[in-house]
Amino acid sequence: MSRSTARTVVAHETLPVRVLLGPGARHRIPEELAGLGARRVLLVSAGSAKSAADELAGALGPRLAARFGRPAVHTPAGVTEEAMEVVRESAADAVVALGGGSAVGLAKALSARTGMPQLAVPTTYAGSEATPVLGETEDGVKTTRRDPALAPGTVVYDPELTLTMPPGLTLTSALNALAHAVEALWAPDANAATDALAAEAAEGVLAALPEVLREPAGLAGRIRLQESAWLAGLCLAQTRTGLHHQLAHALGGAFDLPHAELHALLLPHVLAFNLPWAPGAAARLRRITGGDPVAVVGRLARGHDGPTTLGALGVPRDALRTVAERVADRPYPNPRTPDADSVTRLLEDAW
Ligand code: NAD
Repeated sequence: MSRSTARTVVAHETLPVRVLLGPGARHRIPEELAGLGARRVLLVSAGSAKSAADELAGALGPRLAARFGRPAVHTPAGVTEEAMEVVRESAADAVVALGGGSAVGLAKALSARTGMPQLAVPTTYAGSEATPVLGETEDGVKTTRRDPALAPGTVVYDPELTLTMPPGLTLTSALNALAHAVEALWAPDANAATDALAAEAAEGVLAALPEVLREPAGLAGRIRLQESAWLAGLCLAQTRTGLHHQLAHALGGAFDLPHAELHALLLPHVLAFNLPWAPGAAARLRRITGGDPVAVVGRLARGHDGPTTLGALGVPRDALRTVAERVADRPYPNPRTPDADSVTRLLEDAW
């Protein structure tokens, strides 16, 4: 269905952000920070980004106030408290996140507590840098909040920083981005702008991913994948998510599962569940995949050496019904109304 036939009023909000994209964009970070008036920079980096972080630390010279190198998935409150100690001791006035969604999430949490400006340098395709959303975990419970002030004001996408992603992370993280785009296609608040972003993101991921998996060091494919992940992140920021993100949130929080692998394995199952009820999204995805979207995404999702089922990820089978009941009970938009029985069947299939 084309949105031009829509007869309802939708609101569309974009966040003010300055985005730099391109090979070598990371070399512009010191200049960007100077533009923000930053004098004492805290550098938060993932272990995987150590050499890029060392390079940036050298370029910042005396403007580097401190480093924190232990971000963790799902932004645990204890880790944020440790990093806040570093903020206080170093009197940092700006934060740079260099890494995947875990590093970006920690910088958001620090900025939320201090008002510091943030510059995000994502090295995966998770898309958190584009959203005003932060999920934090305390005592095993993940709570999510949304506030425009949480979104980084500057984002630097340097595809050279993604060349180190191993094939499994490349694949699952790209499918994580695809999931943002897919849910935007069937979101009730989708509009012409989000449709354009989502279609381009989905097309980019599906075209570039096989190329990148064949030739991981090929920069052209990496550029397209990263640009698509950026657009997918914008989708996540601008539309309400449905069953896919609810399931990922509920399972990820309850069993402390790896984010990208979980998204990747769930996506074909959620597509199979929803597409018959989402004809507009189904038609777009059939055009983009040139076939059956469930089969195409399913083949991709099974194409890595890591866990590709909920069972292999360590989710106990007898927990599926409880998760399904919890997810079916929550209020969120989804093309097909989920109930405990149908969601249990979906989870059994994914198990
Ligand atoms: P991650 O940041 O935890 O990274 C996964 C692993 O990959 C880590 O070990 C990391 O060091 C490594 N890694 C990252 N980049 C690499 C690279 N270029 N080369 C080699 N290794 C690399 O995982 P993620 O999937 O990027 O992010 C997941 C986190 O982000 C979760 O906490 C999730 O909730 C959050 N997230 C939040 C939003 C939001 O809008 N708030 C959106 C997406 C994800």
